This record gives sequence, structure tokens and C-alpha cells, in this order.
Amino acid sequence: MDGWEAVAAGVLVRRHAELDLTTGLVIGERRALVIDTGGDHRQGAELAAEVRELTPLPWDVVLTHGHFDHCFGTAAFLPAPVWADRGCTGYLREHAERQRAEWSERYREQGRPEVATALGATTVVLPDREVTGSAEIDLGGRTARLLHLGAGHTGHDLVVEVPDVGVVFAGDLVEQGAPPDFEDAAPREWPEALRRLLALDPALVVPGHGCPVDAAFVREQRAELLLLARVCGAHARGEISTAAALRESPYPEPTTEQALRRTS
Ligand SMILES: [Zn+2]
Repeated sequence: MDGWEAVAAGVLVRRHAELDLTTGLVIGERRALVIDTGGDHRQGAELAAEVRELTPLPWDVVLTHGHFDHCFGTAAFLPAPVWADRGCTGYLREHAERQRAEWSERYREQGRPEVATALGATTVVLPDREVTGSAEIDLGGRTARLLHLGAGHTGHDLVVEVPDVGVVFAGDLVEQGAPPDFEDAAPREWPEALRRLLALDPALVVPGHGCPVDAAFVREQRAELLLLARVCGAHARGEISTAAALRESPYPEPTTEQALRRTS
């Protein structure tokens, strides 16, 4: 799946073949809001050019979190305000180069040196609008709300609510088409973040990867995460073996192993 889809008036979703990434665009009367920027300078430039075709308005950028695939394309959108949770800046300072190195190697191993080269040539942009808890962006005729709902996929996830149409861009707090990713996750806190997300009563939730989903999908994912959180808790307390944890988890072994590492 590759391309744009309008999911509500002036609210667009762009799915990318690369990592099945999903980015967003919210268009107001005076400004537009770009949600996530792709994984390298080339992907960012392509996305910026496409957004420019869709709207002539000046834009703000919001980063759902500091994983490279969501934010390494930001330079192509400058000059622009770049919003993110306050924890995102520190995360990028600490982990941007590690991500660049690890993924460059992975792309080379996959026989895709051109993606590794693009990653190597990317300038990482730090956010200059740090959100503590929540913030609102007036786009003209509509407001976008930026909300940190607690730790989950990372310690600094930021969701974007477009209240006038009931759309929530969830970043990787919600994942469609693949298991959630626990590399930097807080497995035992993640269900609470999704409870708060569901309390927004969204009509449509746009995940960080995969296709837009409804609240029922998020409720189901939350139930799985809750089960995994209990498994991780029992494992951390020594009540169940690793083998039992892997058996009881709703997710594949590598996913569960990663979650167990985050809670041991
Ligand atoms: Zn992520």
C-alpha cells in the first residue's frame, strides 16, 4: 500500500511502502500540520514535495516520537515549527546516531545500500517546540491537539487529535499489520496510554504503521497489551518461567522477548 487517502475533510493519511510507515496531514484555513516526516532526507523531500502539491499553506511539523522512520525526514520541511514531546529531544540526542548506525547496517545487509547512504547523508533535526503534557495548534478554523498520554511505545509518544472530525494520529502506540514494537517500550504502562487514547472516543485512529483503524481495533490491541503486561509482571516477579511467559503472551517470541527485556 502506497499513497494518500483522505480520511476526513482536510485530513489525509499517506501510507509508505518503506516499513509500511503511515504519516499524516491536517489542513486548516491558515496552516497545515504534517505528522511525521519519514526515515531519511530523501523520503522527507519526497513527502514535502507531495504535501506542497496538496496545499499551499505554511506548515507545522509534529513528530510522534524519535524513532528514525518517523522523524529523520524533518529537514526537508524547514523552516517550520517542529513539535514533539519534551522527551523526544533528549531521546534523539542520545539515540539518533545509534539508530543511524544500526539501520544503515540493516539496510546494507538487505542489499539496499542506497537507503543506507541516504540515512548516512541525513541531518537529524531536533524539535524546537517541546510539549509538556499537551498543546494546541490553531490551524485556522480547526485546532489540532497534541497529547502525551503516558509512556507506551516509548517514554515520549505524542498523539495528535483532530477533535472536529474525531481522528487521532497515534504514532506507534497503535500498530496495524505487525505486532507492536517494544525496543524502547514501557510494556506495563502501555495499556494505560491506550485507555487514555480510547477515552478521547475517536471515530478513526491512524497508526504509525499500517492502515487506519477503529476504536474496536485499539480496544483489542489494548487487551493484548494488558495480557502481555501481566505476563511481564509475573515474569519479573519470578512467578513464571521465560518459557511460560512466551507461551502465554499474545505476541510472537521475538516481540515477547523484547518486552521481557524491558521489564526484567
Ligand atoms: Zn516507533
